[in-house]
Amino acid sequence: MTTRVALIAHDHKKDDIVRLAGEYVDTLARCELIATGTTGSRIADAHGLKVERMLSGPNGGDLQIGAQLAEGRVDVVIFLRDPMTPQPHEPDINALVRACDVHNVPCATNISTARMILDDLTLRFSQQI
Ligand code: PGA
Repeated sequence: MTTRVALIAHDHKKDDIVRLAGEYVDTLARCELIATGTTGSRIADAHGLKVERMLSGPNGGDLQIGAQLAEGRVDVVIFLRDPMTPQPHEPDINALVRACDVHNVPCATNISTARMILDDLTLRFSQQI
């Protein structure tokens, strides 16, 4: 079954997630990608990846991803949060991270953790015949 990866980045982290997606473009191309609206556009435009876009985060995109996750339809979350800037949709952000913990879904909230998860996916794919 195809690995479904959710990608979200706050505004100050969008350049970071685009760069990260570029580093792992071959791995991400083997996954089904969903993302919040602006993050999804940025990644799709930069790398030609197919990304299913939800609403923008402040308009409920995190909640849409959280709902899919609760139904078992998200395997990995890469969520580059901005810890230095208050977000209007803080409750939605917390709800998504909580849903990851409830359902034991790996959730990277910084680049180092994201790399560890993406390295693991890369390795798994390389071992598949
Ligand atoms: P965005 O949403 O990708 O639509 O900007 C992410 C967020 O800011 O929560």
